[in-house]
Amino acid sequence: MIQSLRKKLTLLFLGLFLLIYVLGGAAALGVFYHGLTLALDEELRDLSSEILPAIQLSTGKPSLKKWADAAEHEHLTSPAGIQLFDQKGELLEKYGLSGDGLKKGELKVQGDNHTISVKSNFEELREDGKHLGYLQVQIPTNSRDTAAQQFGLTMLLMLPILAVAVSFAGYFFSGLAIKPVEKSIKVLKTFVADAGHEFITPVTVVEASLQTLEEQLKEHNIGLDVLSMISRASQRMKDLASDLIFLAKLDNPDAQLPEEVISLDEVVDPAIEDVSELARGKSIALSCSSVPELPIYGHRHSLQVMLTNLLTNAIKYTETGGSVKLDAGQENNRIVISVEDSGIGIPADRLDSIFERFYRVDESRSRAQGGSGLGLAIVKAILERHKSEIEVQSTPGKGSKFIVRIPIAQVSVQAISKH
Ligand code: ADP
Repeated sequence: MIQSLRKKLTLLFLGLFLLIYVLGGAAALGVFYHGLTLALDEELRDLSSEILPAIQLSTGKPSLKKWADAAEHEHLTSPAGIQLFDQKGELLEKYGLSGDGLKKGELKVQGDNHTISVKSNFEELREDGKHLGYLQVQIPTNSRDTAAQQFGLTMLLMLPILAVAVSFAGYFFSGLAIKPVEKSIKVLKTFVADAGHEFITPVTVVEASLQTLEEQLKEHNIGLDVLSMISRASQRMKDLASDLIFLAKLDNPDAQLPEEVISLDEVVDPAIEDVSELARGKSIALSCSSVPELPIYGHRHSLQVMLTNLLTNAIKYTETGGSVKLDAGQENNRIVISVEDSGIGIPADRLDSIFERFYRVDESRSRAQGGSGLGLAIVKAILERHKSEIEVQSTPGKGSKFIVRIPIAQVSVQAISKH
């Protein structure tokens, strides 16, 4: 449980990091791109204000010839495109990149042999208040686009490295964070196990005293019904205490539950034997298919308890005269055991809860049947210890089917030591 909590926290940490990284990265890229675009605008303005004084306007028709000759003479090359238009927007002169009419903003223009993305701006040319035309300046945006692409690519390449580092850090820190929780759970489990042990001793004394009292009362034939009531109550207390102790043991990873290779029939047969009296008492037809000799590596007693609990429930929650059937077989590399009854069934919305401790679908019915609400919690804990799974199919009023899947031990059947 603690390990899965630690993994969940690590995944949460990683998820949060990825979210922040992606959102933060996108915002950073946006800011970076915007900054570069502002720099381009500034460059455009500088270029315009550099060229404007060199335009000859005296002839009434704007010209940049003198400026162009001087630039050529001084071997000044500019990656920009400069165009002069008359007041109607007709192109008069062009230098560098060829523009595509009078346009502002980002556009694509034809270069020598491919299209180029440029940022374009134009300004009106006036002399003595008379509108003579326009000066348009365009500069390529490829340096900005390449820088933004590189920025994005670097962020993308950093992502897997950072994700791995964050996962390790998350796993480490979640380990630190859950240490106090782990400690509290350990204290609680020890408390439950200790309380269970403390219960067992006085209940055993009560049981022994009841036996003596029963013999004395039998002679006088008085109070026997009260005595049997006390006896049933003390038995329930003893069962509850034993279940709590067993559950605490299953929860404790350090608790010794010696494992061995067991044959499937060694688990099934004693469980059937355990519940046959209960089934007879309720006239329930208890049947069991032939059990294949398949090996399981596990704790013999726990596996028997697991099956006994499922069979006991099947009988408890089936009306008199009903049926309970156990099937065992193989599915790929797993043993499949199913316990099917023709009982009261479980509502679909309760199926997830029945494995919780002290959960009962119908509390009074469970108590009347002597249930402690721990049977299925024990089944689940045993199966988790054996890396096995359980599935429930149920139809209220028709019956339930509990299907258990246990890995087959990787040994030959001959290696199974029968007890
Ligand atoms: P309990 O001691 O109450 O039987 P369990 O943990 O064994 O506790 O089972 C939890 C609840 O699941 C039961 O109270 C019962 O409502 C339901 N349940 C378990 N097995 C069956 C079954 N075979 N048919 C119907 N209900 C069942």
